[in-house]
Amino acid sequence: MSPPASDSETPPGPDSPVTEVARKVLLTMSRRQIPLTPENYQVWFAYVTGSRPGLTREIDERVAAGTRFDDKTNQGIYERHFGGDRERKLIQEVSQATFQILKEALEGVIATGSVTQEYSQRLNGFASRLEQGDLDPDTLKKMIGAVILDTRKVEESSTELTRQLEKARQEGNELRRKLEEAEREATRDVLTGLYNRKYLDKALHALYDHYRQEGAPFSVIMMDIDHFKKINDQFGHKVGDSVLEYVGQTITGSVKGRDVPARYGGEEFMVLLPATNLKDACKLAESIRQQISSKALKIAKTQTTIGIVEVSSGVSEVREDDTVDTVADRADKALYLAKRSGRNRVKSEQDLSAGAGSHKGTASAA
Ligand code: GH3
Ligand code: MG
Ligand code: MG
Repeated sequence: MSPPASDSETPPGPDSPVTEVARKVLLTMSRRQIPLTPENYQVWFAYVTGSRPGLTREIDERVAAGTRFDDKTNQGIYERHFGGDRERKLIQEVSQATFQILKEALEGVIATGSVTQEYSQRLNGFASRLEQGDLDPDTLKKMIGAVILDTRKVEESSTELTRQLEKARQEGNELRRKLEEAEREATRDVLTGLYNRKYLDKALHALYDHYRQEGAPFSVIMMDIDHFKKINDQFGHKVGDSVLEYVGQTITGSVKGRDVPARYGGEEFMVLLPATNLKDACKLAESIRQQISSKALKIAKTQTTIGIVEVSSGVSEVREDDTVDTVADRADKALYLAKRSGRNRVKSEQDLSAGAGSHKGTASAA
């Protein structure tokens, strides 16, 4: 469509997209506060495109005279220039322009995440009927009227829509962040930040399954704070909690990558070590033990000395005849051997009894 230029309003150039024409029609109409009816649209479409010199002249004169475009005036203009006239070409022009607005509105609706599904469906229905082009002028006019009104609503609400969408997106992000946090919290021990018992059990099962399927080895350290009850009794539960945090931090700082440092419960910890043999696991347990007991702890506020905190550990490595429970049991037994042997030390499953079972561990305990 290359409409001839109107000599009054700035005309859309011959290359203007049809949507630009349609938008200009809407803009001109709303500026003059002309109700959006199919008839009025037809009048102002002709005016903007300059397709009817007589109509353009009449409107220009009325504008110059300062006439108000009230209902009676609008109706008169329509009757004079289109009365009974259902010129196919114009209907086509209008339908084309409408279709373009429609397309844009649809694209906008899709881009902004849709007003309602019902509305999109309605627009789509209009679009396909317009495309078929087999409508009688009356139906077409009714449709145009409805579409113009609907499209206008969409345009008016699109800013609000965008704002709402942005808000929803932000809320979505916030929700996702909270969910991630909640998921993280669900796997962690609140006091120490280490993995909790629930996560530990899952991880142990996963490692065991992986061992069964792929033969991937892993080791287990079971650790318990020595005479922890005394710390609680002497300095109070709060100080006891701080000591648990301190031990937790030391363990965290000593492990890497896929290792699973966990609070087993109370003052007991477990560390799962994928792809680690008994010897290396014992070395790590010993290193953690030394670090924990390397300095005397103080209560920062009062500068009261708590003293040296010590831990005992037992270490095991998964083996052929293990169930998921027995590998942890051996670490636990080794831990109690360490306790019985005087505490503040690491014992491995190899220390439990000479030639214990079919274990193929690579080294003796630290
Ligand atoms: P052992 O060397 O034989 O392990 O002696 P222990 O005193 O460390 O062991 P025991 O099992 O007798 O005492 C463990 C204490 O740990 C008792 C319990 O009140 C305390 N405890 C468990 N969980 C927490 C906690 O979350 N915070 C604090 N402050 N204390 C805890
Ligand atoms: Mg204990
Ligand atoms: Mg203890």
